[in-house]
Amino acid sequence: MRESELSGMTALFPSEDGNPQERQQLMQLIEQIVSGVDALKNPNGVNLKGEKLRTDHFYQNLILESAIPQSGAPLAEVGDELLKLLHNHPYHTRYFLTNILPMASTPGILGMITAMLVNGNNLWDVYGPAGAEAEVRVISMMSKLVGYDALRSGGYTTWGGQGAVFTGLRLAIAKFAPDAPRTGVPGNFYAFCSESAHYSLFKSMEATGIGSDHLIKVRTTADSAMDTDDLRYKLEQVIAAGGIPVYIVATTGTTDAMGIDDAELIYSVAADVAVKHGLKRPHIHADSALGGFFAFFNSYHFEVNPLGFTPEVSAALRAIANRMKHLPYADSLCFDFQKLGQTPYLTSLFLVRDAADLQLLDLEPDETPYVGHRGYGQYHTGYTLECSRMASSISIYSALLAFGEEGYQRLLAQLVEVNLAFRRELRVQLPYVEIVNGDNPGIVTLFRIYPQCAQGFETEVAGRCTLAEIQATNQLNERLFEALGETREHMFFGDTKKHLIVPTAEGDSVALYAAKIFVISPYTETGDVAEIIKHLKNVIEKVYEAQETASITSGRE
Ligand SMILES: *Cc1c(COP(=O)(O)O)cnc(C)c1O
Repeated sequence: MRESELSGMTALFPSEDGNPQERQQLMQLIEQIVSGVDALKNPNGVNLKGEKLRTDHFYQNLILESAIPQSGAPLAEVGDELLKLLHNHPYHTRYFLTNILPMASTPGILGMITAMLVNGNNLWDVYGPAGAEAEVRVISMMSKLVGYDALRSGGYTTWGGQGAVFTGLRLAIAKFAPDAPRTGVPGNFYAFCSESAHYSLFKSMEATGIGSDHLIKVRTTADSAMDTDDLRYKLEQVIAAGGIPVYIVATTGTTDAMGIDDAELIYSVAADVAVKHGLKRPHIHADSALGGFFAFFNSYHFEVNPLGFTPEVSAALRAIANRMKHLPYADSLCFDFQKLGQTPYLTSLFLVRDAADLQLLDLEPDETPYVGHRGYGQYHTGYTLECSRMASSISIYSALLAFGEEGYQRLLAQLVEVNLAFRRELRVQLPYVEIVNGDNPGIVTLFRIYPQCAQGFETEVAGRCTLAEIQATNQLNERLFEALGETREHMFFGDTKKHLIVPTAEGDSVALYAAKIFVISPYTETGDVAEIIKHLKNVIEKVYEAQETASITSGRE
């Protein structure tokens, strides 16, 4: 017997030789977890069963209680402890409508397990050949999908859509100042994104040392897309003051309203202004983390309509796909597979149109004494901000194979169909509720309620409401958020405190609050819409009643 077996240490590891006894043990432990989760499921609510007393001292108590055990526990006991973590955990049932927080699909999970069983390091193909192979494959697949030349493009899996925005900025800096990686970033660089963009760029400006004061927010139109006239104006303004625009983020699918910037228009404005001033065109990153998946409809033949979508669903998908067709105008982009790609966290894919751009960020051979730059190994990702990397591309690969283009088309179309049904019912059943992203087809509806006799959304967008009026409406909506939060265990809605930024009658600007329904669970069907609306109606009526009582009481005072 080997020493490791004598000491019992290998019992905590998968087998060395593939023997059936040890496999059985591993399978039993996995079975314990999977069936344990199943026993907690409750399709009539949004949380798994089980108690979790989240008192004010919850985390404080955890700190006091926790210590590493002196001797290890049997794995079955550990399994029981792990399952306790999941008690009362949100779970993606049909009533899970809160945000872009999807369920992990079975192929996505299987891909993760595959990667873990060999635990390769995606940093270098000598250590993680499976990850390197899967990564090259999925980059090619997604490049072809969006319309990049797969022989020219490149990319890698990274830490989120935010990581992709960050790397885009690193590329932009390196393009404008090739010495910057060594000498630091010049003080006159500026980046641009819309008011509805994700805060990723804000953070990236901080992290690169440019500073978020050099982030210029471009106005949006009422459909939450970037106003390219304002972009042109602000580019000119920055240049006139001696600044250099290096980076523009085109949000192709905003996280709240699903507004979609027009990448082609942004490209032509950026190129135009650059030529006029003898500057390089800024690097354009399409933040397609969420919306990019609608590129699956690039190849869909809407006239033949092989999957039999209703005319309404087809029209919505077409409108989105028409914007996604412009993705190849971006120099880099992103697919957050943990969003609409149906894989577990963290599976974000960063793509560049020209793989050669990545060389701007690569390490010199003498900076990498341990890995890469050898006679062996052909794939070394010295340009990523990470050193070691998980092979999350294996999960992406698995999902792409299992769903296929058609699987993604069907799933996304279902989410869109449910959202359209929800809007229809909302208009009929609750006509006083306003849908405030009506121009954005997609999988999310933002809605806003108004105090009696207050002006509605159109008046707000037109800038004819006073700050006080809008604030009063925002407050009413905040009460709605709270009321919806009280029944969150049954139905889980989302909300946002920054839907659109609108001008006030006084000439300032202010953000609108809105409640949100995000169709994200594959288990939500059009047949569930009536029940959801009924619940919503109940909650909204209670909010109005409470408001009336409050105004009557204050009127008496
Ligand atoms: C979600 C999202 C991000 C951030 O992605 P993470 O994966 O959470 O880092 C950035 N931009 C957009 C448009 C997003 O939807």
